[in-house]
Amino acid sequence: MSAIDAKGLKKSFGDTPVLAGVDLTVSPGEVVAIIGPSGSGKSTLLRCLAGLEALNDGALTIAGVTAGGKSPLAKTLNGRVGFVFQGFNLFPHRTALENVIEGPIVVRKTPPAEARAKGLAMLEKVGLSDRANAYPSALSGGQQQRCAIARALAMDPEVILFDEPTSALDPELVGEVLAVIRDLAVERRTMIIVTHQMDFARDVADRTIFMDGGVIVEQGPSRSLLASPREERTRRFLARSG
Ligand code: ADP
Ligand code: MG
Repeated sequence: MSAIDAKGLKKSFGDTPVLAGVDLTVSPGEVVAIIGPSGSGKSTLLRCLAGLEALNDGALTIAGVTAGGKSPLAKTLNGRVGFVFQGFNLFPHRTALENVIEGPIVVRKTPPAEARAKGLAMLEKVGLSDRANAYPSALSGGQQQRCAIARALAMDPEVILFDEPTSALDPELVGEVLAVIRDLAVERRTMIIVTHQMDFARDVADRTIFMDGGVIVEQGPSRSLLASPREERTRRFLARSG
Protein backbone atom coordinates (compact mmCIF):
# COMPACT_ATOMS: atom_id res chain seq x y z
CA MET A 1 0.00 0.00 0.00
CA SER A 2 1.18 3.52 -0.81
CA ALA A 3 2.08 5.98 1.94
CA ILE A 4 0.52 8.74 -0.17
CA ASP A 5 -1.96 8.27 -2.98
CA ALA A 6 -3.28 11.52 -4.45
CA LYS A 7 -5.37 11.84 -7.60
CA GLY A 8 -6.51 14.99 -9.33
CA LEU A 9 -5.85 17.33 -6.40
CA LYS A 10 -7.24 20.78 -7.07
CA LYS A 11 -7.05 23.86 -4.91
CA SER A 12 -7.95 27.47 -5.65
CA PHE A 13 -7.73 30.60 -3.58
CA GLY A 14 -10.62 32.76 -4.74
CA ASP A 15 -10.56 32.59 -8.53
CA THR A 16 -6.89 31.63 -8.67
CA PRO A 17 -6.24 27.96 -9.30
CA VAL A 18 -3.09 27.04 -7.40
CA LEU A 19 -3.19 23.26 -7.78
CA ALA A 20 -4.62 22.33 -11.16
CA GLY A 21 -4.87 18.55 -10.85
CA VAL A 22 -1.93 16.88 -9.12
CA ASP A 23 -1.46 13.09 -9.11
CA LEU A 24 1.13 11.80 -6.67
CA THR A 25 1.92 8.36 -5.33
CA VAL A 26 4.65 7.84 -2.74
CA SER A 27 5.76 4.43 -1.49
CA PRO A 28 6.64 3.68 2.12
CA GLY A 29 10.32 4.51 2.68
CA GLU A 30 10.54 6.70 -0.39
CA VAL A 31 12.20 10.12 -0.24
CA VAL A 32 10.81 12.62 -2.74
CA ALA A 33 12.11 16.11 -3.47
CA ILE A 34 9.89 18.80 -4.99
CA ILE A 35 11.50 21.66 -6.86
CA GLY A 36 9.99 24.50 -8.86
CA PRO A 37 9.73 28.26 -9.12
CA SER A 38 8.23 30.45 -6.44
CA GLY A 39 4.43 30.47 -6.68
CA SER A 40 4.20 27.11 -8.46
CA GLY A 41 2.07 25.57 -5.69
CA LYS A 42 4.69 23.54 -3.79
CA SER A 43 3.69 24.76 -0.32
CA THR A 44 0.01 24.49 -1.14
CA LEU A 45 0.50 20.88 -2.23
CA LEU A 46 2.27 20.01 1.03
CA ARG A 47 -0.38 21.82 3.06
CA CYS A 48 -3.15 19.93 1.25
CA LEU A 49 -1.36 16.62 1.81
CA ALA A 50 -1.07 17.42 5.53
CA GLY A 51 -4.73 18.38 5.73
CA LEU A 52 -3.86 21.97 6.62
CA GLU A 53 -5.88 23.13 3.60
CA ALA A 54 -9.14 21.61 2.40
CA LEU A 55 -9.14 20.38 -1.20
CA ASN A 56 -11.51 21.71 -3.83
CA ASP A 57 -11.41 18.44 -5.70
CA GLY A 58 -9.54 15.19 -5.95
CA ALA A 59 -8.97 12.12 -3.81
CA LEU A 60 -6.28 11.71 -1.21
CA THR A 61 -5.16 8.87 1.01
CA ILE A 62 -2.17 9.55 3.25
CA ALA A 63 -0.88 7.53 6.20
CA GLY A 64 -3.89 5.27 5.83
CA VAL A 65 -6.42 8.11 6.12
CA THR A 66 -8.67 9.03 3.21
CA ALA A 67 -10.07 12.46 2.44
CA GLY A 68 -12.47 13.05 -0.40
CA GLY A 69 -13.57 16.34 -1.90
CA LYS A 70 -13.84 19.02 0.74
CA SER A 71 -13.50 17.12 4.01
CA PRO A 72 -10.58 18.48 6.02
CA LEU A 73 -8.08 15.90 7.11
CA ALA A 74 -5.76 17.34 9.76
CA LYS A 75 -7.87 16.28 12.75
CA THR A 76 -8.25 12.70 11.55
CA LEU A 77 -4.55 12.46 10.78
CA ASN A 78 -3.82 13.19 14.42
CA GLY A 79 -0.12 13.83 13.86
CA ARG A 80 0.49 10.85 11.59
CA VAL A 81 1.83 13.30 9.02
CA GLY A 82 4.65 15.50 10.34
CA PHE A 83 5.22 18.97 8.92
CA VAL A 84 8.43 20.96 9.14
CA PHE A 85 7.92 24.61 8.20
CA GLN A 86 10.34 27.04 6.63
CA GLY A 87 9.95 29.35 9.66
CA PHE A 88 10.26 26.59 12.33
CA ASN A 89 6.94 27.56 14.01
CA LEU A 90 8.06 26.66 17.53
CA PHE A 91 6.02 27.90 20.49
CA PRO A 92 8.14 30.86 21.70
CA HIS A 93 7.10 30.58 25.35
CA ARG A 94 7.98 26.87 25.61
CA THR A 95 11.41 25.30 25.95
CA ALA A 96 12.81 23.01 23.28
CA LEU A 97 11.71 19.93 25.24
CA GLU A 98 8.27 21.41 25.96
CA ASN A 99 7.83 22.06 22.24
CA VAL A 100 8.70 18.45 21.47
CA ILE A 101 6.38 16.86 24.09
CA GLU A 102 3.36 19.10 23.44
CA GLY A 103 1.91 16.96 20.64
CA PRO A 104 2.41 13.59 22.33
CA ILE A 105 0.83 14.86 25.59
CA VAL A 106 -2.03 16.91 24.15
CA VAL A 107 -2.89 14.95 21.00
CA ARG A 108 -1.79 11.43 21.89
CA LYS A 109 -2.44 11.60 25.67
CA THR A 110 0.99 10.10 26.30
CA PRO A 111 1.81 10.16 30.06
CA PRO A 112 4.13 13.16 30.71
CA ALA A 113 7.04 11.08 32.06
CA GLU A 114 6.98 8.87 28.99
CA ALA A 115 6.65 11.88 26.68
CA ARG A 116 9.66 13.54 28.36
CA ALA A 117 11.82 10.43 27.98
CA LYS A 118 10.88 10.10 24.32
CA GLY A 119 11.26 13.86 23.80
CA LEU A 120 14.79 13.81 25.22
CA ALA A 121 15.65 10.89 22.95
CA MET A 122 14.35 12.84 19.92
CA LEU A 123 16.38 15.91 20.93
CA GLU A 124 19.43 13.68 21.24
CA LYS A 125 18.74 12.30 17.77
CA VAL A 126 18.95 15.81 16.30
CA GLY A 127 21.97 16.74 18.41
CA LEU A 128 20.18 19.04 20.86
CA SER A 129 20.29 17.16 24.19
CA ASP A 130 22.22 19.98 25.80
CA ARG A 131 19.62 22.59 24.76
CA ALA A 132 16.49 20.82 26.06
CA ASN A 133 15.64 23.58 28.51
CA ALA A 134 16.44 26.51 26.22
CA TYR A 135 13.72 28.74 24.80
CA PRO A 136 13.59 29.15 21.01
CA SER A 137 14.86 32.74 21.25
CA ALA A 138 18.08 31.39 22.80
CA LEU A 139 18.60 28.91 19.95
CA SER A 140 20.19 29.52 16.55
CA GLY A 141 18.01 29.07 13.49
CA GLY A 142 19.64 25.73 12.79
CA GLN A 143 18.96 24.59 16.35
CA GLN A 144 15.35 25.78 16.12
CA GLN A 145 14.81 23.83 12.93
CA ARG A 146 16.40 20.72 14.41
CA CYS A 147 14.05 21.12 17.39
CA ALA A 148 11.12 21.37 14.97
CA ILE A 149 12.27 18.12 13.34
CA ALA A 150 12.49 16.46 16.79
CA ARG A 151 8.96 17.71 17.46
CA ALA A 152 7.71 16.07 14.27
CA LEU A 153 9.55 12.81 15.06
CA ALA A 154 8.06 12.64 18.57
CA MET A 155 4.69 11.87 16.99
CA ASP A 156 6.03 8.78 15.17
CA PRO A 157 4.77 10.16 11.86
CA GLU A 158 4.25 7.80 8.94
CA VAL A 159 5.12 10.62 6.55
CA ILE A 160 7.16 13.79 7.12
CA LEU A 161 6.70 16.83 4.88
CA PHE A 162 9.44 19.49 4.80
CA ASP A 163 8.65 22.88 3.26
CA GLU A 164 11.96 24.55 2.37
CA PRO A 165 13.43 23.60 5.75
CA THR A 166 16.66 25.53 5.22
CA SER A 167 15.45 28.62 3.34
CA ALA A 168 15.22 30.81 6.45
CA LEU A 169 18.70 29.87 7.67
CA ASP A 170 22.01 31.66 7.42
CA PRO A 171 24.19 29.71 4.98
CA GLU A 172 26.51 28.41 7.69
CA LEU A 173 23.56 26.76 9.48
CA VAL A 174 22.09 24.94 6.47
CA GLY A 175 24.43 21.94 6.69
CA GLU A 176 23.48 20.87 10.21
CA VAL A 177 19.79 20.72 9.28
CA LEU A 178 20.41 18.89 6.00
CA ALA A 179 22.56 16.37 7.92
CA VAL A 180 19.61 15.55 10.19
CA ILE A 181 17.28 15.10 7.21
CA ARG A 182 19.90 12.95 5.49
CA ASP A 183 20.00 10.65 8.55
CA LEU A 184 16.23 10.27 8.34
CA ALA A 185 16.52 9.36 4.67
CA VAL A 186 19.08 6.68 5.54
CA GLU A 187 16.52 5.27 8.02
CA ARG A 188 14.09 5.06 5.09
CA ARG A 189 11.55 7.45 6.55
CA THR A 190 8.86 8.38 4.07
CA MET A 191 9.45 12.04 3.30
CA ILE A 192 8.67 14.82 0.85
CA ILE A 193 11.11 17.72 0.87
CA VAL A 194 10.45 20.96 -0.97
CA THR A 195 13.89 22.40 -1.54
CA HIS A 196 16.04 24.76 -3.59
CA GLN A 197 19.12 22.71 -2.74
CA MET A 198 19.61 20.76 -5.96
CA ASP A 199 22.71 18.94 -4.68
CA PHE A 200 20.77 17.79 -1.66
CA ALA A 201 17.85 16.59 -3.80
CA ARG A 202 20.27 14.69 -6.03
CA ASP A 203 22.05 13.00 -3.11
CA VAL A 204 19.13 12.27 -0.80
CA ALA A 205 15.90 11.97 -2.76
CA ASP A 206 15.02 8.80 -4.66
CA ARG A 207 12.78 10.85 -6.91
CA THR A 208 12.57 14.52 -7.80
CA ILE A 209 9.41 16.25 -8.98
CA PHE A 210 9.41 19.54 -10.90
CA MET A 211 6.27 21.65 -10.38
CA ASP A 212 5.25 24.71 -12.33
CA GLY A 213 1.90 26.48 -12.59
CA GLY A 214 0.14 24.16 -10.16
CA VAL A 215 0.95 20.92 -11.97
CA ILE A 216 3.70 18.32 -11.95
CA VAL A 217 5.57 19.05 -15.17
CA GLU A 218 8.06 16.22 -14.89
CA GLN A 219 9.38 13.70 -12.40
CA GLY A 220 11.91 10.92 -12.28
CA PRO A 221 14.89 9.46 -10.45
CA SER A 222 16.64 12.51 -8.95
CA ARG A 223 19.93 11.96 -10.70
CA SER A 224 18.48 11.69 -14.19
CA LEU A 225 15.86 14.41 -13.75
CA LEU A 226 18.43 16.91 -12.51
CA ALA A 227 21.12 15.94 -15.02
CA SER A 228 18.98 15.50 -18.13
CA PRO A 229 15.42 16.82 -17.82
CA ARG A 230 13.11 16.03 -20.72
CA GLU A 231 10.93 19.14 -20.53
CA GLU A 232 11.98 22.57 -21.69
CA ARG A 233 10.39 24.21 -18.61
CA THR A 234 12.46 22.01 -16.30
CA ARG A 235 15.63 22.77 -18.25
CA ARG A 236 15.04 26.52 -18.02
CA PHE A 237 14.34 26.32 -14.29
CA LEU A 238 17.47 24.27 -13.61
CA ALA A 239 19.60 26.59 -15.72
CA ARG A 240 18.37 29.54 -13.63
CA SER A 241 18.95 27.67 -10.36
CA GLY A 242 22.59 27.15 -11.20
P1 ADP B 1 5.30 27.91 -3.75
O1 ADP B 1 5.38 27.22 -2.42
O2 ADP B 1 5.62 27.00 -4.89
O3 ADP B 1 6.09 29.17 -3.80
P2 ADP B 1 2.58 28.46 -2.97
O4 ADP B 1 1.88 27.15 -2.85
O5 ADP B 1 3.00 29.10 -1.70
O6 ADP B 1 3.78 28.32 -4.00
O7 ADP B 1 1.64 29.50 -3.70
C1 ADP B 1 1.12 29.29 -4.98
C2 ADP B 1 0.18 30.43 -5.30
O8 ADP B 1 -0.92 30.42 -4.43
C3 ADP B 1 0.83 31.79 -5.17
O9 ADP B 1 0.38 32.57 -6.24
C4 ADP B 1 0.29 32.30 -3.86
O10 ADP B 1 0.20 33.70 -3.87
C5 ADP B 1 -1.07 31.66 -3.79
N1 ADP B 1 -1.48 31.41 -2.41
C6 ADP B 1 -0.89 30.55 -1.56
N2 ADP B 1 -1.53 30.53 -0.37
C7 ADP B 1 -2.56 31.40 -0.47
C8 ADP B 1 -3.60 31.83 0.42
N3 ADP B 1 -3.71 31.32 1.66
N4 ADP B 1 -4.47 32.73 -0.04
C9 ADP B 1 -4.38 33.23 -1.30
N5 ADP B 1 -3.42 32.86 -2.18
C10 ADP B 1 -2.52 31.96 -1.79
MG1 MG C 1 6.52 27.67 -0.75
